[in-house]
Amino acid sequence: MKSDKDLKKEFKIIASANPEKYYAVNALKKEGFNRHQCTNCKKYFWSIEKRDVCGDAECMKGVTLFDKNPKRNSMSYIEVWNKYKEHFESLGYSAINRYPVVAKWNPTTDFTIASIAAFQPFVISGEVEAPAKKLVIPQFCLRFGDIDNVGITGSHCTGFVMIGQHAFVSPEEWDQEKFFMDIYSYVTKVVGLQKEELVLHEDAWAGGGNYGPCMEFFSNGIELFNQVYMMYEHRDEGDRELKLKVLDMGLGMERIAWFTQGTATLYDAVFPTVLEYLIENTKVDFDQELFRKFAPYSSMLNIDETDDINKSWKFISEKMNINVESLKNKIMPMTGIYSIAEHSRSLLFAITDGGLPSNVGGFYNLRVIFRRMMSFIDKFGWQNSIDIKKVLRLHAQYLEPVFPELQDAVNEVYEILEYEKKRYYDNKTRTKILIDSIIKKGENVSINKLIELYDSHGIDPFDLSISAKDSGLNIIVPENFYALVTEKHDEESRIAAEKIKTATKKEKHYDVDDLTTNALYFEHYDLVDFKAIVLRIIHDLEEGNYKVVLDRTCFYPTSGGQLHDIGTINKCKVIDVFKQGSAIIHVLEDIDFKEKQTVHGRIDIDRRIQLAQHHTATHILNGAARKILGNHVWQAGASKTLEKARLDITHYENLNPEQIREIEELANRIIKENLPVYKSFMKRNVAEAKYGFRLYQGGAVPGKELRIVDIMGFDVEACGGTHLDITGDVGQIKILKTSKIQDGVVRIEFTAGLAAEKTIKDSELSLEEVAMLLNCNKKQIPGRVKELFEKWKKIVKKNSKEKFVLESTLETEKNEDKILEEAALILKTQPENVKKTIERFLREINSKNTS
Ligand SMILES: [Zn+2]
Ligand SMILES: [Zn+2]
Repeated sequence: MKSDKDLKKEFKIIASANPEKYYAVNALKKEGFNRHQCTNCKKYFWSIEKRDVCGDAECMKGVTLFDKNPKRNSMSYIEVWNKYKEHFESLGYSAINRYPVVAKWNPTTDFTIASIAAFQPFVISGEVEAPAKKLVIPQFCLRFGDIDNVGITGSHCTGFVMIGQHAFVSPEEWDQEKFFMDIYSYVTKVVGLQKEELVLHEDAWAGGGNYGPCMEFFSNGIELFNQVYMMYEHRDEGDRELKLKVLDMGLGMERIAWFTQGTATLYDAVFPTVLEYLIENTKVDFDQELFRKFAPYSSMLNIDETDDINKSWKFISEKMNINVESLKNKIMPMTGIYSIAEHSRSLLFAITDGGLPSNVGGFYNLRVIFRRMMSFIDKFGWQNSIDIKKVLRLHAQYLEPVFPELQDAVNEVYEILEYEKKRYYDNKTRTKILIDSIIKKGENVSINKLIELYDSHGIDPFDLSISAKDSGLNIIVPENFYALVTEKHDEESRIAAEKIKTATKKEKHYDVDDLTTNALYFEHYDLVDFKAIVLRIIHDLEEGNYKVVLDRTCFYPTSGGQLHDIGTINKCKVIDVFKQGSAIIHVLEDIDFKEKQTVHGRIDIDRRIQLAQHHTATHILNGAARKILGNHVWQAGASKTLEKARLDITHYENLNPEQIREIEELANRIIKENLPVYKSFMKRNVAEAKYGFRLYQGGAVPGKELRIVDIMGFDVEACGGTHLDITGDVGQIKILKTSKIQDGVVRIEFTAGLAAEKTIKDSELSLEEVAMLLNCNKKQIPGRVKELFEKWKKIVKKNSKEKFVLESTLETEKNEDKILEEAALILKTQPENVKKTIERFLREINSKNTS
């Protein structure tokens, strides 16, 4: 298979050799455009006036937007979308709402990075129908490759709205000239760009084995957008036309606002209310005229394309005829203001959509931009002049006409950022000492060491460098430091994902791909007996067992964190069940039947009910945790076994006893209310439209149809597990313990149904046993535990010779079911270990006293 890079390279030559076939040549000629070849990069391009070089800033030796910024149809940021929508609706496109920027429906990425990503992978692959054949969408996107450039170059962003123009049509319905004219008329009529300002490049695009021509729109040295025509599919046996051709055009809404308003920077055009607030409160000397003069050079400070940043600063200051230091002193605080406006908006969207700042995977970027924002606030002493909640509120208000959902999320986003802020300052104080020691030792601090210090101790390398300079030390921090850190984390998550992939690849593959088993467990979780025809028997000599596929089955295969069923087929035991493709494979040690025979299957109903109780309970708890803790709670993982279940949720800190109690109480109330649990299959796009993306609690699920498990609106998830019919059948839920298992993820372990009864009985029993051990009544346990702990420390640890006796008669006011927890707290252990710990203390005291 050829790589996408090679496909693109090869097709570019093919397309430009035959432009009539691959580009909207008729339309271009009709508008008066002529075809030229760039003398610098050799690309073919179209323009009205004759020119030697294409529209690329490099070929043009600079951006001309700042010199001659002709008056266009000035549009506010919000107007850009409204007018875009109006224009395309009049041309027969449907306008749809944005997808979340945290891409829960997509197994290949954490964030939505382009408008087309909303339709990946399932719409593009043809598995799921597109919401409309021709559509436009204001898609908020996040990209973290340019963090260090935000604020400084005047145009870079981490978050932006890509307004998409998309079509998903058959080859017969494909009309490239029209797609071209639709966007061309937008640019010239709605935005008001002169034809003469446009330079259109012929290019090619390839991705995921698909490819096609594309046309890049440039103006004044700036790329406006790229209209991609995804038309062909690369295959070993020969390329072919795609059955579903895809139009992909994504235009930065920020750029259009900037372009039409002609402001000094993109940020001035996009964040008017937030900037006004920040400038007024920080009292920064906001010299926009200076920034306007500086802006044409600011791209020289683009970290990725500049080798020596200091040289660039020097060059710019000479050009502007101003001293380097005073230029920096004026520009840098403005950079800080712009960055705070930009980063806070990205955080508002990301957290609203279910992302949490953490050390894990792509979500690390959220922490990085928050810290970058805080480091500006610290550096310029704005702690008391900037109210972050106010900033978030202003963003939400300003964006309300297009994104009303942000308003409701402001309080919660603020709460999460406050926690993040506390963490940031805690880290800073804690590591001050560390910084001092590094400086004292005069260590040579490598880039890797800087990343390590930043990662594990939260030390900002730029802070470090400043403190070091005071002590006469020179620590060089690469300007693209944050990008390097991000790269490292992306690499880590890529390697982790790779590992998972290879792990599943190693799994054995059985010759059953031609078979389909009809699953009977979806309809009725309590269906025990069934008759079925044996489709295939594979004698697995290596494992010494048989793999059996039936035409239908009640046996649930291990999946979605739920353990498989056991039971019998005829008289033989089923020990394991798993799924491969659309076949369900039963594992038996022995068989008493042949292929094509009808057999009688029977599942172990007690096990099934317990597993169903744990599974339905998991959904109830997930709903309860979200209601109590907030909308940022998503399921991050789950597992259900016979003995207990666990639910991992996204939350920034471990739960306190009060929160645990509230979640448990709400969950048990839902059980008492005996709500129906509706289960049904729905078309994916219908389900998404009805319930939203909250459906994907268990991550992305493939397939045209989703199985929806709806607990009367309390919790709705796409889930293929066996569920009870009414919540009352869960019996009760008992939370055993909670723990923070990784940054931003809390694990709740619990039992339900019979297992919960057993847990409660066990803890009552162990309470009695503990009372007996301590020779007291139950209420006196905490007092005696404390006494025991003190005496153990004296006798065992400090070798005191005193006589051992327990005398405390202090009684706790806590309820009986909380006594073990109280004792556990004193002993600094978990409730289930209280008895063992007491026994050990008594044993150790005894052996001291007798020796
Ligand atoms: Zn060129
Ligand atoms: Zn589930």
